[in-house]
Amino acid sequence: MEPTSETFPQEQSGERLKVSDVVRNPKGATRFQGNYAFEDPKTAGVISCNWQVQPEAAGLSIHGKLHGAMELECGRCLETYRVPVDLEIDERFVFDRFVERHEKEKELQSDDFFEVVDEEGELDLKDLVHQFLILEAENQLACGRPECRFA
Ligand SMILES: [Zn+2]
Repeated sequence: MEPTSETFPQEQSGERLKVSDVVRNPKGATRFQGNYAFEDPKTAGVISCNWQVQPEAAGLSIHGKLHGAMELECGRCLETYRVPVDLEIDERFVFDRFVERHEKEKELQSDDFFEVVDEEGELDLKDLVHQFLILEAENQLACGRPECRFA
């Protein structure tokens, strides 16, 4: 078991993260755990994530370690098979007021470096996990049995 002293005193459900809470944390990094279950792609039970949120000069960075499994349908035999999930999420967010208009436009055109967040807003961590799992599921096509391998 993880020591409970590591968790943020204020309850974090792991679903929606209030930005102002984590950037005003005097201890710096905020650590907490979230558990996530989805129907599409289907998770095997829950997928857990250990989050670490770090305030930065003009925003925050988010690191997450996902652990669990998904139940996917094989693209060939249509049987359900289990895919282990061990993924790391690294995202940088920059506060709205630090981003010039031309940078926002640039960001829309290329998928480099950071996302923009409202300093008084919330981050949808559940949705972030979901996006990663969707990408991961798209990379898995078949169950791995020899007769199901895509040539
Ligand atoms: Zn198969």
